[in-house]
Amino acid sequence: MLLCDFHIHTTYSDGSVELGRVIDLYGQAGFDVIAITDHVVNGDNLLGKLAQRFRFSVRGDNFDEYMAAVQQQARRAWDKYGMLVIPGVEISKNHISIDMSAHILVLDVKEFIPACMSYEKIFLEAKRQDAITVACHPHHLSDNSRDTLYLWNNRDKYARHIDAWEIANRDDVFNVISLKKYHYIANSDFHKPRHLYSWKTLLNCEKDVESVKQCIRHNKGVAITLFRN
Ligand code: ZN
Ligand code: ZN
Repeated sequence: MLLCDFHIHTTYSDGSVELGRVIDLYGQAGFDVIAITDHVVNGDNLLGKLAQRFRFSVRGDNFDEYMAAVQQQARRAWDKYGMLVIPGVEISKNHISIDMSAHILVLDVKEFIPACMSYEKIFLEAKRQDAITVACHPHHLSDNSRDTLYLWNNRDKYARHIDAWEIANRDDVFNVISLKKYHYIANSDFHKPRHLYSWKTLLNCEKDVESVKQCIRHNKGVAITLFRN
């Protein structure tokens, strides 16, 4: 099966490791498929304005540069490690209230999606781009630091738009996702080198973008594993 991690940050947002170094870290660790998913933060409140000011967010004015860098590194990763790299973003709707906050991975993104758009528009736009949508850390985390509960609280409304939910994020496992029988994947939410050792996804499919997307969408041949070197 393919060893995969679909949730990785770099210095394009709040990660501590530069994109090229991230590629080498994962390539040398033997990964088959990864997605680079830097934050796109909503700019319509103080939290978002601060994130944009301190460059913890990909923005409309540097999205093309971000995509070009990811695509260039994707070619290098394929040639050097045989590792597939998928461009993505983590649409990050941050609010003071955790019940109002949500993070959504958009995998195989093609065009910029502003995080201040409505949920309906974000999901429609992701679908138009034939991208995969993933509800990130959808339930309480052990350290409560990044809790984002909006999608879980409103699951009856939005579940049909979500291709998969993170059943595990880094060290946390969300049993509510298995109880609901939602489609699932597991990711590191990589920000620092030690986050390499965390929950990951295994996929039983061919190593190309369309096969990976179909495998996540149909959610057959999917498993999770705790990667511990
Ligand atoms: Zn997040
Ligand atoms: Zn993240």
